[in-house]
Amino acid sequence: MRRLVLVGGGHAHVHVLKALGDSPDPTVSVTLVSPVDRQLYSGMLPGYVAGHYGLDECGIDLAPLASRAGATVVRAAASLVSPTVREVIAANGEVVSYDVLSIDAGSRPLVGEAKGVGRHAVPVRPLERFVEGWERELARARAGALQSVSVVGGGGAGVELAFAMECRFRRELGEAAPHVRILTDAPTILPECAAAVRGRLLRLARRRNIGVHPGCRVAEAGPGFVRLREGIEFSSDATFWVTGSAAPEFIRDSGLMVDRGGFLAVNDFMQAEGHPEIFGAGDCATNLLNPRPKAGVFAVRAGPALAANLAAALKGGPLERHVSSRRFLALFSCGERYAVGSWGALSFEGRWAWRWKDRIDRRFVARYSAAALAAR
Ligand SMILES: Cc1cc2nc3c(=O)[nH]c(=O)nc-3n(C[C@H](O)[C@H](O)[C@H](O)COP(=O)(O)OP(=O)(O)OC[C@H]3O[C@@H](n4cnc5c(N)ncnc54)[C@H](O)[C@@H]3O)c2cc1C
Repeated sequence: MRRLVLVGGGHAHVHVLKALGDSPDPTVSVTLVSPVDRQLYSGMLPGYVAGHYGLDECGIDLAPLASRAGATVVRAAASLVSPTVREVIAANGEVVSYDVLSIDAGSRPLVGEAKGVGRHAVPVRPLERFVEGWERELARARAGALQSVSVVGGGGAGVELAFAMECRFRRELGEAAPHVRILTDAPTILPECAAAVRGRLLRLARRRNIGVHPGCRVAEAGPGFVRLREGIEFSSDATFWVTGSAAPEFIRDSGLMVDRGGFLAVNDFMQAEGHPEIFGAGDCATNLLNPRPKAGVFAVRAGPALAANLAAALKGGPLERHVSSRRFLALFSCGERYAVGSWGALSFEGRWAWRWKDRIDRRFVARYSAAALAAR
């Protein structure tokens, strides 16, 4: 019996689990190590905040996927990998041995030197914690306790969440809605996007009275304020921390080869450098020769090749090279069931763009629903 261990139920691993369930192999034992039993789909999270989706519509249940794949679930985070003895040590003390290991454990928000984030801000990850934090702050807003809300981070997630929050507050509270602002240390929001996309988002932000403050590095989150590096303070009754991606600590702690940010270093076959029996995909891994942005679209694209390569590594066979195209469709929801998008140099916006995103997102989640699993 060969042992496959999957760490994390991320975008690539849900595909791997589905593929394992589609073609069960009695000679392989599978274990999923995951701290959550529901994988929240980040693409729909802004829609949940805006009130367009219920939380149950945004999640993929891992238990049925695992059960269909014949996988044992260890319901805990991995805290260490011991590559020499080929073991994963979970936070609940369980030790799981593997012949082949795959890591798709995502990322966490980048906090750096900033103080007070754990106590006075709501970090966007883990997503379950963000959801709790959002519900708590929404309840405070309804009780009239919020005048101003800061979203720290001006990437796609920060911008979408700011629009979603503004939409929700205004719809529920009208004139009493708190003011929402975006603070980013970059010279602009979404610096990696085409200027035309930024222009559209900035115009919409002005129209919705969302403050956009580029060049602002937040050095401290405190009770009722955020303080910039230069000492300037903004009053902030609720602060959401949506900065870029930092690597899960256990990868570096395990002595695996990492890039400068601590992300698992992998090759074109998604194998860890120096450990061909360990694979990595999604945000937690970086292809050193062909790096891609930390975005869900790349984790999703990795799924089929990862499933094929894990099967090949278990049974012996040629591996598939996986180097994702750089191009991808970006769709940013802006509250009000309205979206701005880009494809290469082309930019566009409208309600139709939101409906397009809605269809793509719902289709992704539906692929792993009980109905879809039962259909095969
Ligand atoms: C609000 C928001 C909106 C976004 N919208 C988009 C979008 O529209 N398009 C896009 O391309 N990207 C988007 N992103 C980025 C996207 O969420 C990530 O790039 C994507 O989730 C990465 O997928 P992943 O599979 O690597 O990790 P994840 O989806 O984060 O999954 C990782 C899983 O691993 C688990 N895990 C974590 N640590 C451990 C551990 N130690 N042991 C075991 N399991 C662990 C987690 O619980 C989680 O289930 C958005 C992000 C946010 C926050």
